Amino acid sequence: MHLYVHVPFCARRCSYCDFAIAVRREVPSAAFREGILQEWSRWLVDDRLAGFPALSTIYFGGGTPSRLQSSELSRLIEGLVTARPIVAGAEVTLEANPEDVTPESAAGWRLAGVNRVSLGVQSFEPGVLAWMHRTHTADQVGPAVAMLRDAGITNLSLDLIYGLPRHLARDWPRDLDQALALQPAHLSLYALTVEPWTPLARWIDRGATIAASDETEASEFLVAHDRLTDAGYRHYEVSNYGRPGAEAVHNRAYWFRRPYLGLGPSAHSAMGSRRWWNVRDWEAWRQAIATGQSSVAGEEQLDGDTRALEDLYLGLRTDQGVPAASVPAAIQTAWVRQGWAEVRTERLVLLPEGWLRLDALVAQASAA
Ligand code: SF4
Repeated sequence: MHLYVHVPFCARRCSYCDFAIAVRREVPSAAFREGILQEWSRWLVDDRLAGFPALSTIYFGGGTPSRLQSSELSRLIEGLVTARPIVAGAEVTLEANPEDVTPESAAGWRLAGVNRVSLGVQSFEPGVLAWMHRTHTADQVGPAVAMLRDAGITNLSLDLIYGLPRHLARDWPRDLDQALALQPAHLSLYALTVEPWTPLARWIDRGATIAASDETEASEFLVAHDRLTDAGYRHYEVSNYGRPGAEAVHNRAYWFRRPYLGLGPSAHSAMGSRRWWNVRDWEAWRQAIATGQSSVAGEEQLDGDTRALEDLYLGLRTDQGVPAASVPAAIQTAWVRQGWAEVRTERLVLLPEGWLRLDALVAQASAA
């Protein structure tokens, strides 16, 4: 079983972000650790966990998990793995913002058991970072990478965002080159999406910003594919690239339907055909935990059709594809002819041009 812990605290809200966060100047690290361990202790006596004697990975996502005090993170990990051991050498990931990395914090994370850090870089251009309301500067990224490596955390992933509005005049190839110069084991590249109720959505509504065109987004996706695969990275999922052997183990659990449990506000869980999600708001979640109420806000049981649709979508996101027999032969032939897919040892795998059309292709295949 894989474990996800949602740490909701951020210093401020980024202009594009609609995640479940709590903006806090002072992070209530001890209260958070207590709440998570309380929630964990309830799950430990739940039948759904009976078949899982050990944890395969732990992932601290957010929010900004690097804002937790290292000492509290250490207590938290210790509490989690004391109750249910983690397999030797398992991946333990912490999402971090560059400004939170210091020699002390990096050493503390390593000591706590973190062996992989996903660094929220997004861009190396000062103007872009300011527009995004990021709290770090471009020149903090290189030193953060060096400090993490010095502390013994060498499995590093960098996050970048592409498809930015044209008026920012962002030099995407240059950002890719700067990321590559740091030689990370892994990169995650996400297209900017305009979510309702974000500052970005408001800027677009009032005409202060114009979202990037589909053509810009597609061209940047393909530029990244070429540059990163030329540099030796495997484009193993629509948004993810890894050096051989550095593919994200935890994230693969989502795409390959492994069981995972989420702790903390807004965290999602899935086991077999059941999935559920926690209350989104930090204070509401904390109150539920403190008063012995359930922290679960909703759940669903997937029926066969929904599961089949998701299998198609999840499979086609990765370079493992789906069993070729799950897509009608005429559709396969059309996709292959267009250069969107290929058949490899009886599996249908999308190519980058196919990933650009992922939603439409899944809809086409599932409607057939
Ligand atoms: S740091 Fe991450 S989670 Fe926090 S506001 Fe920015 S994008 Fe959202």
